[in-house]
Amino acid sequence: MSSKLITIGQGAAMTSVANPLHSKGKVMKFIEGTRVITEGELQANNITRYHVTRSYREQIAKGGYYDQLKYIVEPSVEEFLSPGSLDTSGEHDNTVLPGLQHKYAQTGLLLVTDRCASYCRYCFRKRLVGKDSGEIAPDFAHIAQYISDHPEMTNVLLSGGDPFVLSTAKLNKILDYLLPIPHLDSIRLGTKMVAFEPTRFEDSALPAFFQRIQEAGKTAIIVTHFDHIGEISVNAECKIRSLRSQGVQFLNQSVLLAKVNDDPEILAATFAKCHQIGVRPYYLFQARPVKSASHFQVSLRRGLEITRGINRRLSGIHKTFKYIMSHYTGKIEILDLGSDGRVYMRYHQSKTPEKIGRMFSRRHVEAACWLDDLPEE
Ligand code: SF4
Repeated sequence: MSSKLITIGQGAAMTSVANPLHSKGKVMKFIEGTRVITEGELQANNITRYHVTRSYREQIAKGGYYDQLKYIVEPSVEEFLSPGSLDTSGEHDNTVLPGLQHKYAQTGLLLVTDRCASYCRYCFRKRLVGKDSGEIAPDFAHIAQYISDHPEMTNVLLSGGDPFVLSTAKLNKILDYLLPIPHLDSIRLGTKMVAFEPTRFEDSALPAFFQRIQEAGKTAIIVTHFDHIGEISVNAECKIRSLRSQGVQFLNQSVLLAKVNDDPEILAATFAKCHQIGVRPYYLFQARPVKSASHFQVSLRRGLEITRGINRRLSGIHKTFKYIMSHYTGKIEILDLGSDGRVYMRYHQSKTPEKIGRMFSRRHVEAACWLDDLPEE
């Protein structure tokens, strides 16, 4: 088997050359330096494939934040040491049909692809992104039938992977099944494409795609994924403004990531910029204890300090985000660490409707990053 030298770095495309010294492995460049790695080790440790678009590489290289943003897309040896699970929020248990999750009554989550324009090292769907996962929706007729039979489901989120890696023709085929369902009032598309490849939104077929959604009486919502102000390029801003003028609504979700954006100054600037361009921040996610990505987690104590710091820097109209842990039991808003040594939280969403809106607390443990790190007392 021939081996490869993979170079990964600022502004550099991946290149490969034969390396006869390491016939059983390949020399792979990590943030910390090169290592010889076998394909088996990569797979056993769930190391996500490396791929970054040229435009994102250029954006993070020239924007002045490379030392933070490189952690989003460039491999680190820490990935081999990070413990965790590959399904931290019970996606398997909430899958009602292949490619359709129904965890919260009102929302259907469709996995429409397992591919992305670039791969984030912290992705909580490492189990499927960049792979042929077998988890992608194979049959939209069955999915549409399920949704039709569940009138409580008022919105769907197209996710993956990134739905905008699919052609607009393919996205239109998905709409063929979803738009006739009368009780769906919105179609959301979760995407990091605006950061990774904003030129995707120059597609001349997209205005008609969004118009179809609106003419069917539904709201088209793009959920962007900006973690850092350095990801919001001039081109991304331009595309967002254009789509907004076509009636598309925008929300943003970010993940709180060690070494990337664990800084209230950066996140406040990111959220203020989002508001300025008409994108409403709505979730700041606590990073999940994902295998090979848990080194991105920030402690709950630090996360709450950062959240307070963000709020101190923003005006009232900018404070539209919630600091959220997307847990197996539901979406939990992390509220505060009290002087009594307890972490106060509230269920924002839950499979158990009686829990929604309910506040609860757990005893704080130093360095805890997740609900399961806090004792039930
Ligand atoms: S774009 Fe989204 S789905 Fe794809 S790797 Fe990044 S976080 Fe995961």
